[in-house]
Amino acid sequence: MENSSNHYDLVIIGGGINGTAIALEASARGLKTLLCEKGDLASGTSSASTKLIHGGLRYLASYEFSLVQASLRDRNNLAKFAPHLVKPLDFYIPFKQKNSTYWKTKIGLWLYRHIAQTIAQPIAHPIAQPKHPFLNSESNDFLHFQDCYTDDARLVIANAKKAESLGAQIKTYTQLISAQKIQNHWALILQNQLSPTPPETLHTSLVINASGPWVETIHTKLFQCKSNFKLQLIQGSHLLFPKLYEGNHAYLLPTQDNRIIFIIPYLTQFSMIGTTDLALETNIKNNTKFQLTQKEIDYLIQEVNPYLSEKINATQIIHHWSGARALPIRLGDADQKSTANPSKISREVQLEWCETDKNGPYLLSVWGGKLTTHRSLAINAINMLSTKIKLTYASKIYSHYLNSINNQPVDLSNLLSSYDFLPQSLKKRWVFSYGQDCLFFLKNCTQLSDLGKHFGQDLYEAEINYLIHHEWAKSLDDILYRRTKMGFLLTQAEQMRLHAWLKP
Ligand SMILES: Cc1cc2nc3c(=O)[nH]c(=O)nc-3n(C[C@H](O)[C@H](O)[C@H](O)COP(=O)(O)OP(=O)(O)OC[C@H]3O[C@@H](n4cnc5c(N)ncnc54)[C@H](O)[C@@H]3O)c2cc1C
Repeated sequence: MENSSNHYDLVIIGGGINGTAIALEASARGLKTLLCEKGDLASGTSSASTKLIHGGLRYLASYEFSLVQASLRDRNNLAKFAPHLVKPLDFYIPFKQKNSTYWKTKIGLWLYRHIAQTIAQPIAHPIAQPKHPFLNSESNDFLHFQDCYTDDARLVIANAKKAESLGAQIKTYTQLISAQKIQNHWALILQNQLSPTPPETLHTSLVINASGPWVETIHTKLFQCKSNFKLQLIQGSHLLFPKLYEGNHAYLLPTQDNRIIFIIPYLTQFSMIGTTDLALETNIKNNTKFQLTQKEIDYLIQEVNPYLSEKINATQIIHHWSGARALPIRLGDADQKSTANPSKISREVQLEWCETDKNGPYLLSVWGGKLTTHRSLAINAINMLSTKIKLTYASKIYSHYLNSINNQPVDLSNLLSSYDFLPQSLKKRWVFSYGQDCLFFLKNCTQLSDLGKHFGQDLYEAEINYLIHHEWAKSLDDILYRRTKMGFLLTQAEQMRLHAWLKP
């Protein structure tokens, strides 16, 4: 039977960027909200992206002006309200000669800047004029533009923390396993994935399905709803190399098949190369993990090498990740252009109601979307609920600073100039990762030894305790790859030591 403790105004399925941003918006607007995620936060597509907060320059070529405009609006807003997590990045596009593609791209970049400026203050930071010895002498002309980059997994966690600070309940490693319609509400059965406890039943009249690549399965199989869309899953993979060139700028390289590949600085020691576009089977299972294929490695290396003065090879790869873009195709439009050229499918998000009774219960499914546009998506999704439920407050998501400690601007320079006893590299990492929220675990620290046990590099017990108690970290991977990026830096022996310490 329903009681108030297991009854929610809204239940969100999926703890990626879209689910957590919707949880933030819903709780800020007065809804009693619960979010369940079957794995760790950001364990789906939202930690496998190229990590760009961008307008999507190439969408101009397919005339998707409204998508570019919405993305640039969100990009500029995030650069202002989450400056610790969303930072400007210079991009260079090399050309062998000033051919027609060069001039088309130049016009495209003018339009891109113009759209960004009409929306809000452009992101501004001094443009360095790097030399490009990394590229071979065939690249004579360069076009330049700016966008932003982020730490995608940390952006998700920052949204979840902000949502929690506004009242949302976040349950990780908790999978929705069944949904039953009982009169005008859903009875949802959730199963904890880490302990064999009996399943938990929740009641709600509103569900938002933000399960990314699993959206179709949940919409059509778990909730038995019809849909006007089918999903095309496109795998994208990234390869990580030791730093390939000096400087903090990125490259956008046009490919022979009319796609683009990015080379982007990653942490201070690495360069990331991606991404591929590999069409996948649509009906994925619950436990599907997206795996890098040899074909993708060959493709990336083969496309990048003609630009480089020193060629790269597969033996230099030190890490990689793969994820799936969930792209909705409206039924009837599914003329298989998708598999012929996945890059051509629109990245525009689709929000779809499940048609049930007039009096509910209701299911709203999120098909597609980008990391960049999570704020506008969250507003649109919650605005759509206003036809079904009373919302207490108007949206303020565009004025939410992404820290959970308060709603004040993150004072980066002040944070960096305080705490003299901390190594500068550690302070920079903490400020970039946590913004103001690192004050939680720095509260009573006056010397380095107050941070507790040292696990190697700049990883200390105080940070790990914070991740476990305040950021839902449950496993070694949650800590090493999503919340910190220490998995790329700690030795195997250091990781094993941390693993042993984590075990109860
Ligand atoms: C290779 C690649 C590069 C990209 N690069 C960029 C970029 O640079 N910039 C950009 O803006 N966008 C980029 N994108 C797009 C962006 O990453 C995605 O649109 C976004 O991360 C999708 O977020 P999501 O929350 O919808 O899905 P996800 O992050 O996949 O989250 C869905 C979650 O739902 C959970 N879930 C599934 N089933 C259940 C269940 N039954 N119960 C509970 N939980 C469940 C999953 O575990 C998962 O964590 C990229 C995508 C890819 C694949």
